[in-house]
Amino acid sequence: MTHLSEVDPLAGWSANLAALDRLPRGLGRDSERALRLAQRFNEEVVRPCYLQLDARLQDHPEEWPQDFIATAARWRLFSRWIPRLYGGEGWNFLSLYVFLEEVSSVCVGLANVIGVHYLGVATLMATWNTRLSEEVLTDVCRADLRGQPHLIALAITEPGAGTDMEETELLERITIGTVARPQGDGGYRLDGSKVFISNGHVSHWFMVISAEDRRRAADTGVVLVLRHDDQGFTRGRHENKMGQKACVASELLFTACPVPAARVAYAPADSQALAVAHRAMLQRIIDYVVSSTRAGVAAFAAGVARGSQRLAQDYALTKRLPKGRLIEQQWAQSCLAEMAKNAAMARQCWIESALANGLGGLYAPLLLPPLAQLEAATPALLWRACGRTLRHPWLQRQLQRRYLKDYPAPWQRHVSGLASMAKFAASDLAVATAGLALELMGADGLRQTQAAEKMLRDAKLLQIYEGTNQLNRVNYFKCSLRHDDAIAVFVREEGV
Ligand SMILES: Cc1cc2nc3c(=O)[nH]c(=O)nc-3n(C[C@H](O)[C@H](O)[C@H](O)COP(=O)(O)OP(=O)(O)OC[C@H]3O[C@@H](n4cnc5c(N)ncnc54)[C@H](O)[C@@H]3O)c2cc1C
Repeated sequence: MTHLSEVDPLAGWSANLAALDRLPRGLGRDSERALRLAQRFNEEVVRPCYLQLDARLQDHPEEWPQDFIATAARWRLFSRWIPRLYGGEGWNFLSLYVFLEEVSSVCVGLANVIGVHYLGVATLMATWNTRLSEEVLTDVCRADLRGQPHLIALAITEPGAGTDMEETELLERITIGTVARPQGDGGYRLDGSKVFISNGHVSHWFMVISAEDRRRAADTGVVLVLRHDDQGFTRGRHENKMGQKACVASELLFTACPVPAARVAYAPADSQALAVAHRAMLQRIIDYVVSSTRAGVAAFAAGVARGSQRLAQDYALTKRLPKGRLIEQQWAQSCLAEMAKNAAMARQCWIESALANGLGGLYAPLLLPPLAQLEAATPALLWRACGRTLRHPWLQRQLQRRYLKDYPAPWQRHVSGLASMAKFAASDLAVATAGLALELMGADGLRQTQAAEKMLRDAKLLQIYEGTNQLNRVNYFKCSLRHDDAIAVFVREEGV
C-alpha cells in the first residue's frame, strides 16, 4: 500500500504549504475578485431579501426563489466558474469557495442555490465525458448570457439510501430503488425516484446516479444526464425542511424514462473499454465530486460561523444592561472570541481541503502550471475550439485513462479523507457557533427578525448533507487512520 507521504510528503503534511510552490500564480487574484463580487452581491441582492424570503417560504413552502435565480444569472454566477473551454469565465475553483463563504455569512440557503449548481458541474466533469461536458456546459453558459439560467442538479439520494449512495463499500450492502435498464443500443430506461435533490424544481439539467442492477449497484452504477422536459421524468413534492429554505429540495420521479446513449456520461461499458474494475471507477468519480463539494460545505460552514459571530457582536454592542453594555462583560467578550476562533478554524478546514483538491483532486488538471498560464493568456475563441476538439472519442478515452484509471490511489484517499474531515469539523463548528450566538442573545436571538435563529436552523443541515457527519468520520478513518501500520493489523483491508 503506497501512502501519500511516499508520493508527495509535503502535500500530505500540509496542502497549504505545498500549494505555495506547486499551484500556479493567479489563484489569489481570482479570490480577491470573488470576495469583492460576493460583498457587492450581498449588499445589493442577498441582504435586502433573505429574511423576508425565509419567512415567505416558511409560510408558503410550495414556492421557490425564482427572482433570486434570475438575478444571480444576470450576475453570471452560474457560468463564472465554468472553464473557458465551454464558454464560462473560467474563474478558478478556490475563488468559488471564497465567494460561497462570503454569501453564506449572510444566507447559506441562497449560497447553496449557487453552490449546488457547481455540484452538478463537478459531477459531469468528473466523468471525463468531454463530449457531454461540451454539450451541457456550453448550453449552461449560453443560457446564463441570455439571463435565462439553465442550472444543473445532482441526484444521488433515494428514499432508502442517502450516505450509503456515496460509497461503493456501503452501496454493496444495500438494494437501491432506482434502476437503469440497458436498452441494447447503449441507452437506458430509468425507473424509480430520488429525494432531497437541491434545486430540483429549478434546474434544467440533472446528473442522475443509478444502477443497472439494484442489488449490485456498486458494480453496475451509471451516471446519466437528463433534461427537465425528458419523457417520463417529472418533479414531485418538495421538502418543507427546517433550514436553508431558499434552496428547494425536490423529489424526482422517473417512469420508463428513456435515456439515449448520447446522454450516458459514464457506464460499465466505459470501464470495460478501460479494462478496469467498474466499482473502482465509480468510486473515483464519486470521490472526485464529494471531495470538492465537501470542501464547499466547509466553506458554507465558515460563512455561517462568521455570520453568527457578527450578529452576536452587533447585539452585544447595543444591548444595555443595568450597568453598561453586554460587550463590557468579560464572559461576553470571551464568548465572542470563541466564536471568532471557530469561524477562523472552519475557514482553515475548507482551504486545506480545497488546496488538496487543487493538488491531487478534480481541479488538478486545470491547475497544471503551464496549462493554467496558457489558459489565462489564450483568447476565449481559441479555448472554445479546444473544447470542441476534446470531445473526440479517442481523446476522451485518453483523459478517462489518465484521470480515472490511473488516478493515484494515495491521492484519492488523501483528498477524500481531508474533505470528510473538513466537512464534519467545519459544520460542527458552525452549529456550535450559531448555538453560542443564541445563548449570548437570549430571547432576542430567537426572534425571526434577528436572523440568529435562522443561522442555527441553516447550520444544522450542513451536518447532514453530503453524507452525515458520522459517516464522514468513518470515511476519514478509512482513508487515513486505517492505513496506519498499527491500526491496519486490526482492521479489514479495503479494495481501493
Ligand atoms: C437540505 C438538503 C439538501 C440535499 N441535497 C441533495 C442533492 O442535491 N442531491 C442528493 O443526491 N442528495 C441531497 N441531499 C441528501 C443528502 O446527501 C443526504 O441527506 C445525506 O447523504 C444523508 O443521507 P440520509 O439523509 O438518507 O441519511 P442516512 O445516510 O440514511 O443516515 C441516517 C442515519 O443512519 C446512519 N447511517 C447511514 N448509513 C449507515 C451505515 N452504513 N453504517 C452506519 N450508520 C449509517 C447515519 O449516520 C445517520 O445517523 C440533501 C439533503 C439535505 C438535508
